[in-house]
Amino acid sequence: MAYTKESLVKELIGMGIKDRKVLDAVGKTKRELFIPRGYMEEAYANYPLYIGHGQTISQPYTVAFMIELLELKKGLKVLEVGAGSGYNAAVMSTIVGKEGKITATEIIPELAETAAKNLEKASIKNVAVVEADGSRGYAKEAPYDRIIVTAAAPELKQEWIEQLKGTGILVFPLGEQHTGQAMIKIRKKGSELIGENHGSFMFVPLRTDKNK
Ligand code: SAH
Repeated sequence: MAYTKESLVKELIGMGIKDRKVLDAVGKTKRELFIPRGYMEEAYANYPLYIGHGQTISQPYTVAFMIELLELKKGLKVLEVGAGSGYNAAVMSTIVGKEGKITATEIIPELAETAAKNLEKASIKNVAVVEADGSRGYAKEAPYDRIIVTAAAPELKQEWIEQLKGTGILVFPLGEQHTGQAMIKIRKKGSELIGENHGSFMFVPLRTDKNK
């Protein structure tokens, strides 16, 4: 079977993704620009692909599910922890538009460089890739309307909460690598935090500068 952007969007609808903005953004983003050359036939298959350095570009369903939870809209300022290939940032960039901005941190220097190159190939201008340990957030650009973490975090990092605006949303997979993780959405309402569990997922681990 030939995988296409259209077949992928159909599959995501079948799996329960409803936010039209998310579906349109997936339908517009050229995933083939974010994967290694050998996988071109599988660019729109609904599974993760190896991107080198022991890392993967997430399954499109996971990307769409997390972005739907983020409640993105035009003009928002977003922090991503774990830029990887840059694909997730690319999908988000379409929704926040040119009034918005994505700062995508990546701890592996080579991947940070690849993500930046991939985004440039896709002519995406509202994403800045920074080589940094996002387990501490990225204070320079804070505060953020939204924070999305695409690597498994064994605990909630205080910096993420601190760097979120008073009405912000954080989405991250909570748990160790070997146990799998729970997809957690935290909505900040002033000093209050409201958390929800959105089911089980599998991510590569969040690293810190110490165990890099
Ligand atoms: N969002 C990516 C896929 C994420 S894979 C995409 O769309 O392709 C997880 C990524 O998180 C890996 O590239 C890994 O190197 C990175 N990572 C792990 N720990 C990190 C940290 N502390 N800070 C920033 N990036 C980190």
